[in-house]
Amino acid sequence: MEDSRPNVARDDRAAIVRRAVAQSATELAQAEQPENVIPRILELIGTACKASRVQLFENEQARDGRITTTQRYEWDAPGIPPTSGFRPLVHLDASAEGLGPLFPRLSKGEACALIAHEAEEPLRRLLQSIGIKSVLMVPIFVAGKWWGIAGFDDCRDERTWSDLEVDTLEVLAALVGAAISRACDFNELANASRIIESSSTLLYRVGAAHPFPIIYASRNVSRYGYRVEDLLQSPTVYIELIHPDDVAAIIGDLGRIAGGSVNEAIRECRLRAADGRYNWFECRMSPVRDKDNRVSAIEGLAIDIDRRKAAESRMERFSLTDQLTGLPNRAAFLELLHNAFNAAKRGAIPFAIFYIDLDHFKDINDVLGHTKGDELLKQVAGRLRANRRTGDVIARFGGDEFAILQMDVADASDAGALATRVLRELSEPSYDIGSEIEITVSIGIAVFAHEIASPEEMLKQADVALYRAKDSGRNQYHFHSEALDISIIERVTLAGDLRHAIERDELELFYQPQVEIPSGRIVGLEALLRWHHPKRGLLLPNHFIPIAEKTGAIVPLGRWVIDTTCRQIGAWRQEGLQLPTVTLNVSAVQLKSLPEFDRDLADILRRWNIEPSAIELELTESVLMETTREHRDIMDRLRTLGVSIAIDDFGTGYSSLGYLRAYHVGHIKIAQEFIKNLEEDSGDIAIVRAAISLGRELGIRVIAEGVETANQLGLLAAAGCELVQGFYFSPPVPAAAMAQLLRQGRLHGGQPAPAADIDPPAAPSRKEVST
Ligand code: C2E
Ligand code: MG
Ligand code: MG
Repeated sequence: MEDSRPNVARDDRAAIVRRAVAQSATELAQAEQPENVIPRILELIGTACKASRVQLFENEQARDGRITTTQRYEWDAPGIPPTSGFRPLVHLDASAEGLGPLFPRLSKGEACALIAHEAEEPLRRLLQSIGIKSVLMVPIFVAGKWWGIAGFDDCRDERTWSDLEVDTLEVLAALVGAAISRACDFNELANASRIIESSSTLLYRVGAAHPFPIIYASRNVSRYGYRVEDLLQSPTVYIELIHPDDVAAIIGDLGRIAGGSVNEAIRECRLRAADGRYNWFECRMSPVRDKDNRVSAIEGLAIDIDRRKAAESRMERFSLTDQLTGLPNRAAFLELLHNAFNAAKRGAIPFAIFYIDLDHFKDINDVLGHTKGDELLKQVAGRLRANRRTGDVIARFGGDEFAILQMDVADASDAGALATRVLRELSEPSYDIGSEIEITVSIGIAVFAHEIASPEEMLKQADVALYRAKDSGRNQYHFHSEALDISIIERVTLAGDLRHAIERDELELFYQPQVEIPSGRIVGLEALLRWHHPKRGLLLPNHFIPIAEKTGAIVPLGRWVIDTTCRQIGAWRQEGLQLPTVTLNVSAVQLKSLPEFDRDLADILRRWNIEPSAIELELTESVLMETTREHRDIMDRLRTLGVSIAIDDFGTGYSSLGYLRAYHVGHIKIAQEFIKNLEEDSGDIAIVRAAISLGRELGIRVIAEGVETANQLGLLAAAGCELVQGFYFSPPVPAAAMAQLLRQGRLHGGQPAPAADIDPPAAPSRKEVST
């Protein structure tokens, strides 16, 4: 039990204390009389938590109503003088001096930690007179009433106690209280008339033949909401009050006693109170014999052990530490997870759990041997611990599995940031195990959300996430949902970079021509944003626009796009180029930033001396719906400004024909997805035809997007489509390359992009023509 390491971290200390409490629990449970074991337990706990002294005080109410607390037990560490010479503490008049001020808190069940020199007089004098530098006082309750205090003195240090330690010592206090309560019950049995009213121990007698009708019950069954008269009137109904899982065992015991095969039975069982709640009882049964020594009845006690049970089951879940690393083990983690979950449900700041698994640990073990494998696990534990914020919990679940409970996760990206750090710190080389080794880990993360029903469900989510991290190639973290994954990974890494993209001049606009068929004339250009990311190469907008929209970065980004387009138009004009309309993509978030959007647009146009009709804004149907719902006047403002709009990705959202007529819509762009399968799917060509005739009716020009092949072009032409945009004629290209195309004036197409180039990856895309 004695811990000999010189610098025991607080956690290790808590773990040692937990073990001591677990051992105390066993000793208390086995002892008939707690006073026989309490001295030993104080020693155990005192040694484990390195206290100088542990004392138990019992409260007594004086005649004048004041509470006095009297020392009952004391243990002193070697070299610490006992207090017995110090009268003031032995009979402490709490209300007048000393501990009095702490009584309100203690009586409510709150543990109090004090540093002696910070305490108010006369408490300070009192503590210092017996050499106390700091003390932790934990109240003890017996049968629901405040019974006394356990005091843990430190005469050497002004120590602060961790929550974990305080929690553990509270468990000890609950166990002691339950043991005392039990002892009280036994003691009072001798004094039979008093117990009936005051104790929680029930007395009963039942008949000796099946179904064992009840003949007598003590009046204190009223504590559990029953009347003796009612029980006696339906003498077998009590059986229904026994928990269904316990009935068979109890009936079995009664049968054996009735049959004379045993002379006593002791069994723990649950009995239902009138409010429906089950309480744990220890039922003791023994035979009543007549003068011929035949069993005439069975009688016994039912002792309420509910508090002890609760404390025990808490202990069971709580008391274990991973032996190899000294970290809390799975059981301890689950206990803390339950607490965090309940707190978050009640409104505390959410938290996240991480499952961490070493990649290919088995190979390391096989190659280097288990001893080194264990050493590696210890060092991983050390690195994880070094990574920890106060309040966060690092645990080892066994094998190469670790877990983190990250507290105060206001935003899921906090968890992403920690995961990034863990990945980095664990993969740094220089593990000191005698062989050069580098490892990686995979991490699965689940973030608390109110919809999650239970902590177990969160664990499952983290497990699924870990699986996905492994499955996608290890050495990475995943959230439990793919949507979160994308948004977090992107947000964490890209959002930061994006903030500097403009000032570092990493953005560029590419332009893609819109072509009239069959003439091949360029009748429009679409400006498409590109980001030359310093590490990830050329990024396409689908990779970062959604993040920019989420973080609000889209507003300055969008302004940059408008500004750059207008400046480019000016520059091309200077070169003497004849320009068609240039279209710009606009997000809902930008439009919602009205009236700035409106004003910025007008300002920029004025600054570059560009007339509003030179540009067109591309809005998708959903952007249109979303913004007009909230800002009805947006389209009117744009119309007043003289800027026309194009409906982008037409057919993928909801369009109201009303919009098309009411707004200044210059173009409808049929979404790529309808063009893609034109060759196979006759349904799509019908949609194209419908869009074209709709456009014709309303006087709006229709552009087919994403045209890649001559075949598609042929089908579109046959359907009456006159404007197309797509790789068949040209991919989006930088401004200089666009200038060349504009000089050329007409395009004839025929260069479809390789299929592999269509998905935007991290590397610079080959589909872009560079100058
Ligand atoms: P979009 O407005 O529908 O733009 C057309 C997209 O289709 C462009 O992708 C273009 O490169 C691609 N494309 C053109 N022809 C073909 C083809 O023949 N086959 C295939 N498979 N694709 C073709 P990009 O440049 O990656 O842009 C994606 C989306 O990002 C755009 O879709 C637009 O919604 C958005 N976006 C681009 N630039 C901006 C911007 O400056 N601001 C905002 N808010 N969104 C932008
Ligand atoms: Mg577009
Ligand atoms: Mg589009």
